[in-house]
Amino acid sequence: MQLPDLSGFTSALQFFVACIGAYLFALWIAMIVWTFRDSRSRSRDIFTQVLSVALVIVFNLPGLLLYLILRPRETLAEKYERELAGEAMLQDIEERQVCPVCHHKISPDFIVCPNCHTKLHKKCDHCERILNLKWNVCPYCGETQGTPVVGRTITTPPPPPARLPTRQPVPLPSPETPKAIPPSPQPAEGQS
Ligand SMILES: [Zn+2]
Ligand SMILES: [Zn+2]
Repeated sequence: MQLPDLSGFTSALQFFVACIGAYLFALWIAMIVWTFRDSRSRSRDIFTQVLSVALVIVFNLPGLLLYLILRPRETLAEKYERELAGEAMLQDIEERQVCPVCHHKISPDFIVCPNCHTKLHKKCDHCERILNLKWNVCPYCGETQGTPVVGRTITTPPPPPARLPTRQPVPLPSPETPKAIPPSPQPAEGQS
């Protein structure tokens, strides 16, 4: 019985297996490197980064799947951008781009709200520029605003009453008051 010559086939198989092995090894290294970079972009915590890489080193592809499930949802750059956007939005609200009453969108130079007719600003009496309702002087032309803001009362102290020279009444010498003579008890006549 003659065995077929398998040496060629075996060496080809060995080569094939070696190729697969090398490919898997490269894939493993690539997964580790990718996990390291990805975890570094998502967390500043060294412990988290080491744990993520160790997960892939030990468990390989299932480890990578676990990492993909457990990793922080957003990268640090995305988080930073989101925080920036949030700050910008807050600033927008602070600049009051909406009506304080009905929250309708308004322009900063509106005088009244087009939706609910709330008075938002006033015009300068002199130069007609848009002024804040609280201002009682125009910052553009320096004109004091005549119409006082509702709810604000100007309190001026009343002038002190004019002092009239008053004459001190001279006390008149009081006339001698007749002395009241005490009624002397009349000696009762002896009644017998
Ligand atoms: Zn409104
Ligand atoms: Zn003015």
